[in-house]
Amino acid sequence: MKIKVSVDKVTKHVELEDETVRNCPFCGSGDIAICNTHSALYWMECQKCGAQVDGRNYGDLNDDESHLEAARSALATWNHRA
Ligand SMILES: [Zn+2]
Repeated sequence: MKIKVSVDKVTKHVELEDETVRNCPFCGSGDIAICNTHSALYWMECQKCGAQVDGRNYGDLNDDESHLEAARSALATWNHRA
């Protein structure tokens, strides 16, 4: 799956497209979501089995670049494990 990272300026919601996301290492599902709260801490979550991998925590920072970096780190960590 290819996903691209972009951040909504208002909601900070991150969209991932055009980046490669590996299938879940536990159940093999390709239905992987990127999640965050309101802070710049993201994690990848398998929508089938619930496996989660946290990215780096940029939670003290709330600018777009920190959100992007946090999202990318979650993606990179997930792909490294998968
Ligand atoms: Zn899974």
